[in-house]
Amino acid sequence: MAEPLIVLRGLWREFPSGDGTIAALRDIDLTIEAGEMVAIVGASGSGKSTLMNILGCLDRPTAGSYRVRGRETAALEPDELAALRREHFGFIFQRYHLLGELTALGNVEIPAVYAGYRVGERHTRAAALLGRLGMADRIGHRPGQLSGGQQQRVSIARALMNGADVVLADEPTGALDRHSGEEVLRILAELQAEGRTVIIVTHDMAVASRAQRIIEISDGAIVSDSRTPAEGTAAAAPRLRAQGAPMRPWRAFLNRLREAFRMALLAMNAHRLRTVLTMLGIIIGIASVVCMVALGQGTQQRVLAEISNLGTNTLEVFAGKDFGDVRSAKVTTLVVADADQLARQPYVAGVTPTVSTSSTVRYGARESTALVNGVGAQYFTVRGTKLLRGRLFDPDGARSLSQDVVIDEETARTMFPDPGEDPIGQILLVGKVPCRVVGVVETQQGGFGGSQNLSLYLPYTTVQARFMGNTSLRSITVRVADDVSTDLAEAAVTRFLTQRHGSKDFFILNTDDIRRTISGATQLLSLLIAGIAVISLMVGGIGVMNIMLVSVSERVSEIGVRMAVGARQGDILQQFLIEAVLVCLIGGVLGIGLALGLGALVSAVVPIIGLIYSPASIVAAFLCSSLIGVVFGYWPARNASRLDPVVALARD
Ligand code: ADP
Ligand code: MG
Repeated sequence: MAEPLIVLRGLWREFPSGDGTIAALRDIDLTIEAGEMVAIVGASGSGKSTLMNILGCLDRPTAGSYRVRGRETAALEPDELAALRREHFGFIFQRYHLLGELTALGNVEIPAVYAGYRVGERHTRAAALLGRLGMADRIGHRPGQLSGGQQQRVSIARALMNGADVVLADEPTGALDRHSGEEVLRILAELQAEGRTVIIVTHDMAVASRAQRIIEISDGAIVSDSRTPAEGTAAAAPRLRAQGAPMRPWRAFLNRLREAFRMALLAMNAHRLRTVLTMLGIIIGIASVVCMVALGQGTQQRVLAEISNLGTNTLEVFAGKDFGDVRSAKVTTLVVADADQLARQPYVAGVTPTVSTSSTVRYGARESTALVNGVGAQYFTVRGTKLLRGRLFDPDGARSLSQDVVIDEETARTMFPDPGEDPIGQILLVGKVPCRVVGVVETQQGGFGGSQNLSLYLPYTTVQARFMGNTSLRSITVRVADDVSTDLAEAAVTRFLTQRHGSKDFFILNTDDIRRTISGATQLLSLLIAGIAVISLMVGGIGVMNIMLVSVSERVSEIGVRMAVGARQGDILQQFLIEAVLVCLIGGVLGIGLALGLGALVSAVVPIIGLIYSPASIVAAFLCSSLIGVVFGYWPARNASRLDPVVALARD
């Protein structure tokens, strides 16, 4: 013969109290057969709820044995107990324990979500159950819009959702008026008539008298167990399980994931202000990170572009002690002969002397100020400047004081704005000197020597003779031979010129040196930015963790209900983790949006600030924000999933 449905042997439940323990249940022996309707009665504090919680696998005995259908429950893992609750037990609580954010239908469906039934099936079955309990026109109502009796009917429908064969009702009529209480008892009797086992806890003898068996407990022990002669025991149990096969495990998992996602959205919506404030931390964090990275990259690119304007492997020899030397304009010792002699050195690939002055430039009615650069024919090669149109001036242009001028693109645009106008061959009046345009080169961006101004290039001899009236040079640009290191070349040039001049009245800019210094500085800058980014994201993350902890402690009773209807620990973990990640992801996306908006604003208002938003940094910010959600959401979510269902339910 099969073992009875429920068998308790020598069962104790003790609670810690002060230094010792108090026993809420003492040495209980109890057997309940399938199909019985049992009332457990007793005074308040006698241990009825404790017994009920153990029967429903919400709580575990301290000692003794509890067997359900021959299975010893003490040996089961939390998730196996959850499976028992999900598949065999249906709970009806005194205070209904419905989730306020869900409709009646949504509440009834929860057990089926965890059991893995298809959405369509779930809806149909939940609606049918509500319909059967006279709630057909209330399925879209939230608990707050329902009366106590109606809420209790929703909670009965929820208990039946997975086809529970054991219905556990703890003071189901305790919070109801007489009429609604009658209604609930009628439903419970119907459930028994269908073949279910119904166990009711009550302190009301009138309620208990509906049952065929009344068990009285007092002070944790069973004092009487009486049966009224059954007026026809329950029929053989019909099929009670919910119809339809559960989904494959992975489909069921995806389904639960979607439900968890939906719940997270509902919870976020229920606490909009709090959610927005938490998100604000993430939004600001992500936006500032994205902006700072963009600023860093923009600055770096600009600086690198300027360095590349200097040309590679070049040394720039300037007259004077350094850039701050006010007398450098008067230092006239750097001369063309120096350049000619340097050009003969074995470590030099090319040399171009440079002088510069500013002058007006005129073409017809158009007039502007331009930087007039006197350069050698090798200048463009040494600097690596690209020719866009026409040609560069002749190698012997310097000797013949030619008045051929090479203009930069910017000058071409300013002086010859019409698209049809070809600058090549036109005569520009530079100061008082007419010059023929022979070529257009690309504009050198900002920085050292270049500028936003118009730039013209003439042979240095022409500039010396026609504009400056002396033969000293501003600088000599030396291109170092490919196989020589610029540092060695710098030392050699210093030695050579010091010897020629008798003193060191010049200084040398080594482009490699500058490049090294600047890339060192930008690396430091990047590190700094990364540091600030990490800090601001940490602050945002801690905000998220804080809010998640609050959210978990606020929703302990919701967690208890979910566990009572069969949620696994993983389901609870997932739900809260998704909420944390969602807050962070939405915050991250808004933060990226804010950063891009700010960037557009900044480049419209202050164009010289270069911001470069690389897709990589945006993707990284996005990943980063979800990672924050996982990292900072994990602990609160794990706390939630480790809650003891009975403790969670007790908190209200
Ligand atoms: P009833 O439902 O019959 O009113 P309970 O089963 O809730 O009684 O409680 C039985 C006894 O166990 C009471 O003395 C109560 O104080 C004690 N008790 C119940 N739950 C806890 C708990 N979580 N911690 C400590 N004591 C508890
Ligand atoms: Mg109680």
